[in-house]
Amino acid sequence: MDFLPFTRPSLDEQTIAEVSDVLRSGWITSGPKVQAFEAQLATLMGGRVVRSLNSGTAALEIALRLIDIQPGDEVITTPLSWVATANVIVLAGATPVFVDIDPVTRNIDLDLIEAAITARTRAIIAVDLAGLPVDRDRLYAIANQHQLRVIEDAAQSFGASWGGRAIGSFGDLVAFSFHANKNITTGEGGCLVLPDASLTGLCEKLRLQGVVRLPDGSMEVDVAGGKFNLTDIAAAIGLGQLRHLDGFTARRRELARHYFAHFDRSLGCELPPENFTDSNWHMFQVVLPLERMGITRGEFIARMKAHNMGIGVHYPPIHLFQLYRNLGFGAGRFPHAERVGAGIATLPLFPAMSEADVERVCGACAEVLSEVVQ
Ligand SMILES: *Cc1c(COP(=O)(O)O)cnc(C)c1O
Repeated sequence: MDFLPFTRPSLDEQTIAEVSDVLRSGWITSGPKVQAFEAQLATLMGGRVVRSLNSGTAALEIALRLIDIQPGDEVITTPLSWVATANVIVLAGATPVFVDIDPVTRNIDLDLIEAAITARTRAIIAVDLAGLPVDRDRLYAIANQHQLRVIEDAAQSFGASWGGRAIGSFGDLVAFSFHANKNITTGEGGCLVLPDASLTGLCEKLRLQGVVRLPDGSMEVDVAGGKFNLTDIAAAIGLGQLRHLDGFTARRRELARHYFAHFDRSLGCELPPENFTDSNWHMFQVVLPLERMGITRGEFIARMKAHNMGIGVHYPPIHLFQLYRNLGFGAGRFPHAERVGAGIATLPLFPAMSEADVERVCGACAEVLSEVVQ
């Protein structure tokens, strides 16, 4: 049996040929492929302005600059995410304010946000963990009532929806990632959806050194931008991926259903919510019954590896990293995020998997856990 990783990108031969065409074209950095990619993204986002970037992290950093987050400002977010979500707040000189998760959805607990709002709170960064969207109606009701900006860290929820509307097609600032492990990839890359066209010029300046090109051929710089543009090589990959977006999402949902049909619920694991309408099933994650297991999560992962399959950890709670301990956070502050973060395990799920692969994972989990769970 081949090794089954927890994820693997699906790149077709046509895409590989189109990337080769770019490499032969004489123009490999941002150019016509980036423009075509952004046009297709804008269509998917209901006609909103979308600007491609070289990472999802860049999209979050630019979003924070577009809303002028300053030192002293507080930004509310979840402790259970990829560390990029909070690092960008620290990099902006602002203060991350974590709010514990809802242990069922594993996303930020919307019931706890209002208690965390102070006079310094400026924004909320909401994360759709594993592609399960945060309740957008409640999120925006809270934000509007307290006049807060929202940055949707939708790195994992490209192709997901809320109330029948695509994530990114509505709301405030929406950041996507096209990292190799995400549902749609450009190798590395990302994009930012803007709430209105008035921010387009500043977004483009922040993307590339602050440069504005003037009609007479000269240039001007009035803001210190970064270096965040996507290459045409990457955009060609993205265009090839978009052709499969609906197919990828549908396939992930089918495989997730298959997990629910075959995963032995008597093993004591907590399964994710059975959502087949909104979620894009970026990941299928279970929480291991650590307190009833005779082995650690690391040992569980090692035993699954002996069955020739890869298990991921997404994510260690952010507030327990040294950087965040140095900022005053520590164990005990966010008990749900700490418990879920300690026990969470990402099982293999990607579009090229077969039903038999899912059954193989379920069988291996049952074999490993039945030996060690009391
Ligand atoms: C992947 C990811 C990011 C960062 O995206 P990059 O493209 O790797 O910079 C940010 N937030 C979340 C929730 C992610 O999953």
